[in-house]
Amino acid sequence: MELSGLQIFKYLPAAKKAEHTNCKECECPTCMAFALKLAKNQVEISACPYAPEELKERFEQARKQPQKTVEIAGLKIGGENVLYRHEKTFINPTALAVVVDMSKPDFEGRIKRLENFEITRVSETFKIDLVILKNCTQNIQTTLRTIREEEFLKLPLNDAGRGDFQATADNLLHIRTKAILEKNEEFAEPTYVYFKSGQDINEVCAQASFYICKYANMLVFEDFDEALFSTLITLRQNIFTDPQKPLQVEAKIYEFNNPDENSIIFMTTNFALTFFAVANELENLSVPSYLVVTPADGMSVLTAWSAEKFTATMAARTLKKFDLAGRVKTRKIIIPGLLAHMQKELQEEIKDFEIVVGTREAYEIADFVKNMTA
Ligand code: SF4
Repeated sequence: MELSGLQIFKYLPAAKKAEHTNCKECECPTCMAFALKLAKNQVEISACPYAPEELKERFEQARKQPQKTVEIAGLKIGGENVLYRHEKTFINPTALAVVVDMSKPDFEGRIKRLENFEITRVSETFKIDLVILKNCTQNIQTTLRTIREEEFLKLPLNDAGRGDFQATADNLLHIRTKAILEKNEEFAEPTYVYFKSGQDINEVCAQASFYICKYANMLVFEDFDEALFSTLITLRQNIFTDPQKPLQVEAKIYEFNNPDENSIIFMTTNFALTFFAVANELENLSVPSYLVVTPADGMSVLTAWSAEKFTATMAARTLKKFDLAGRVKTRKIIIPGLLAHMQKELQEEIKDFEIVVGTREAYEIADFVKNMTA
């Protein structure tokens, strides 16, 4: 665990009312100022000649990286500092690797299939992270990141697989706990689990999903299946988002089904999950539409409103910036039902459009539009 400023301060002369209290030899005005800076790694502990050995040891222990980072041609594995994402953030998503046996006659077709695999989720595009080349005796041309099996096996990685699911899951938990909570160097190597060919795909999916959550740094598969990888990548993206950075999309006017100047207009904030929920409904409508997305630091509509990231003035400014009134003849804007209380306020600021209160949930949009256009 990292030491806080207060924990450090307790070891310093000022806390003990001892000689050298606030002597400034560390170039900080007080011992407390030094402690606070040290907690943020803005000074070296050696700057205070009166720091006791016990503090130095605790500080060094706290500073130790609990899990090593291993890099394979730009792919980073491991380097995690916490057990739970909400404590800070996870660093490197569980890498998904596929083994290609080059002694098999169809290996080139298999590599092509891996190259062609690509999925986009919440504006991020994903491909296979790594191809492990087994029985590789020749150079191959591929756009994917590769490593020969013999080199892969030499990497400082911990094969955490124990044959069956429960034993492997227990082992992964044990290794990560030892690494993070005890900073035990024996457990500092990133972990991987290897899935052999021929296993039931549903079991592989369930097990791999668990290992992504707790706590494999890499999964290696002898079999490749597009649906399996799409599922795992989608799960992984959810687990490895940074809780301190809301997912957001670009603030702009989005078009669905080739809208023209008479098409209906919706408005929401740039929180990615809200955007994709609404966009999905608008894509499936039988009528074309626009979606005005306002900048709100990736906050959902109610959060943005309470944090003053969605105000009537800001909404009006967004419409002006994109010259919506000049682009369309439609004179109605549908706002989320959750912002019904802002209707009057928005109407006062947005003179060119009538503000219509829409649905609270995205799935209600289709019925709402049907009633509106009936
Ligand atoms: Fe306090 Fe040490 Fe800085 Fe002196 S050198 S002010 S004792 S922290």
